[in-house]
Amino acid sequence: MAKESNVSQIDKNKQKQMQAEQERIRHKVKRIKHKILILSGKGGVGKSTVAVNLAVSLALSGKNVGLLDIDIHGPSVPKILNLEGKPVQVLGDTILPIEMLENLKVMSIGFLLRGSDDAVIWRGPMKYQMIKQFLKDVDWGDLDFLIVDSPPGTGDEPLSIVQLLENADGAIVVTTPQEVALSDVRKCITFCRNLRLPVLGVLENMSGFVCPKCGEKTDVFKSGGGEQMAGQMGVRFLGRIPIDPQVVEACDSGKPFVRHYNQNRTAKAFKKVSDAILQLDNNTKRLAKRQSLQKGDKKMRIAIPVFEGKLSQHFGHCDAFAIVDTDDDASQIVKREDLIPPPHEPGVLPSWLHGEGVNVIIAGGMGQRAQQLFARNDIKVVIGATTGSPEELVSAYLGGTLETGDNICDH
Ligand code: ADP
Repeated sequence: MAKESNVSQIDKNKQKQMQAEQERIRHKVKRIKHKILILSGKGGVGKSTVAVNLAVSLALSGKNVGLLDIDIHGPSVPKILNLEGKPVQVLGDTILPIEMLENLKVMSIGFLLRGSDDAVIWRGPMKYQMIKQFLKDVDWGDLDFLIVDSPPGTGDEPLSIVQLLENADGAIVVTTPQEVALSDVRKCITFCRNLRLPVLGVLENMSGFVCPKCGEKTDVFKSGGGEQMAGQMGVRFLGRIPIDPQVVEACDSGKPFVRHYNQNRTAKAFKKVSDAILQLDNNTKRLAKRQSLQKGDKKMRIAIPVFEGKLSQHFGHCDAFAIVDTDDDASQIVKREDLIPPPHEPGVLPSWLHGEGVNVIIAGGMGQRAQQLFARNDIKVVIGATTGSPEELVSAYLGGTLETGDNICDH
């Protein structure tokens, strides 16, 4: 009996400790705005090279970035950044990451392994504990982006980090153009889908060789397979990075490629990817703003379907929506932006506009069904506006002088 109660006490203590650890991770992860995994179906496709260059590129854009290398069987981040053998400092229960730049912190399993053979004996639960420690104990501070270099494939490490992060933004999947790499990438995308981890896009690395002397491009492994596969799998294609001898030279000598060769064509290809990732941050800012708009009592966010700059009578088939924000008292316009709607499908526009924080629509005409859907999404619809620019219509609406006629497009 006494033995049994001892066991249950041990279980309870264990549970308490796990909850405390989970809380500590949550607290740390909350301070990281965007968490992005770099994955690949197989090794050697340039996943670590992409992870490092993406992290450096984001840092050079002024963002606070963390780079975490959990590739236990081949941690290459220390080598690529010339940080091999750097001692990691531990203060109490806090591990200090290495500051590569003022705004780029790096942590790698490579800093903790004594030799490359150390990793061979690591089993699933040990890997989980180690990854947990990287989130729980490393002093990441406030980050805009955490880039995680995961081992190739769909094993314990990506699974553990996705579970521990709880709400990662998604994964960038790196591939080379050959079919053998592409079939592994398909598995990788399916793995993300099973984990409900968004795929931010596919990046085709080693996509053609550009001769440094004559500039002629040769498709060594053929090119374009990544884009085709991304289309088939319904994920975004982020671009192509060519094979470039300077990438190898930079990686081998520990100089971050995008920093040292920033005018090079390949560096520009990397920059394009990092610009796409920076968009995530802009979208988050927009979302925060939208949420604050929705909370405000009077502020309005008004959508108007436009065609050639004026009110479009064809609500579901307009060029764009002008989204007009008012000030706190809804007395004047403070901003207008134009957004391209998603492809037309029944029921898409109400939820999309709701997601964009819109609370009023000014339209020419609209079907009954659409009106019901907008009402369900808490969006007020003003129907029967005749013509005018978005600013003219909103000013008239705010001033109570908007003229409305019949619902002229009620099909
Ligand atoms: P992975 O992480 O997928 O195993 P790495 O990033 O370690 O792959 O890259 C494998 C090798 O390929 C490295 O020597 C690296 O320098 C080289 N490499 C990666 N991308 C390119 C590229 N675009 N052009 C030339 N060499 C590259």
